[in-house]
Amino acid sequence: MSRIIKDTVDRLLDRINAISDTGPGFTRPSYSPLESQAHAVVAEEAERLGLTVTRDAALNLFARLPGRDRNAAPLYVGSHVDTVAMGGAFDGAAGVAGAVALAAAFVDSGERPPVDLVVTVTRAEESVWFPVSYIGSRSALGRLTAPELQAVRADTGRTLTDHIRAEGGQPEEILSGAGLAAARFIELHIEQGPVLDNAGEPFGIVDGVRGGLRYRQARIDGTWAHSGGAPRSARSDTVFALADLVVAMDRRWGEVLETGQDLAVTFGRVDAATPEHAFAKVPGRTDFCIDLRSDDVAVLERMDEAFKAEIAAVEAARGVRFDLGAQSRSHPTKLSAALGDQIATAAGRLGFAPRRMLSGGGHDAAAFAQAGWESVMVFLRNWNGSHNPDEAMNPEDLASAVATLHEAIAFETTGAADE
Ligand SMILES: [Zn+2]
Repeated sequence: MSRIIKDTVDRLLDRINAISDTGPGFTRPSYSPLESQAHAVVAEEAERLGLTVTRDAALNLFARLPGRDRNAAPLYVGSHVDTVAMGGAFDGAAGVAGAVALAAAFVDSGERPPVDLVVTVTRAEESVWFPVSYIGSRSALGRLTAPELQAVRADTGRTLTDHIRAEGGQPEEILSGAGLAAARFIELHIEQGPVLDNAGEPFGIVDGVRGGLRYRQARIDGTWAHSGGAPRSARSDTVFALADLVVAMDRRWGEVLETGQDLAVTFGRVDAATPEHAFAKVPGRTDFCIDLRSDDVAVLERMDEAFKAEIAAVEAARGVRFDLGAQSRSHPTKLSAALGDQIATAAGRLGFAPRRMLSGGGHDAAAFAQAGWESVMVFLRNWNGSHNPDEAMNPEDLASAVATLHEAIAFETTGAADE
């Protein structure tokens, strides 16, 4: 079985990545002819295995291998094949290659999966093209909205509706569709972070997707003054004020981690180089942004309160005024512990001990979970980062993860008799 998995993974990755705009790296924009060609490769491979291929109104692809119990909820397994501009070979494509390889393992063994196994290739997962999250999966789930269909693609200036229609979809039917009935979804995906590679572990199981609370356009106003003439007690220095805030938030972050809760605090775009800035001035204005992330919305709420309390203290101490601008959020999503446990148990039988971990970035699996599905992710070790041409992973790790999924589901019983 390991031979068929490895061969399928290698062939699918080669075939999908042969389809790209000019390099460096790989470029398949969302709802582009290139994304459609990559879908067609998967369809052809799935049909060669005897799977039945269908596409929904948003052109998500579903390739179905009948299970022993045709009445039970299916198991969907897959990912996406669109990429960012000049991205890597594995973000998305690895999960699709893995899903086809899982189906191939069942076909090769002659054993049917316990329930229908549906290789799933979503559309438009990378939100760099259209400013909308999870377009394909949320369309499949009946959760896309009419205004979102009018979103404009960053490079072409044409609407999502136009692009879907141009690739052969039916945008008007997306809004009226009831969406797929709740079932189970497993997404294999590269980690896009260093944890597994640093630990020397081939794959891990993702328990949740972090949510975020951000202030993207915050500023501090103080008083411009002469850097030699103004005495310390008379200054309202916005850089010192931001420094106080950064140190305070770093301390708060450490305290939250001490309690065992999940949190990441990131300041960015620190900018005191406004037009009024000069070397010989006490800075009277500093712009910044902050991105708080956690798997727990309560932690985000508490940190937001703490952030504002620290700001009040800094304002009082430094004589400056903060304006945070608009807040934006994404919701933390818990993935299926039961499905994660099932995969972990199977991994143990094959000699693996995958860690449980969080995803810092968003993935289609979160959209399925938010729609009430049992949804889980398996992260694959990768290096050289992600969303860049050097993104790297070992296809052997993907093959190990696929073998684990096969082990996890092959012996499931649904309680129903074989048809
Ligand atoms: Zn991805």
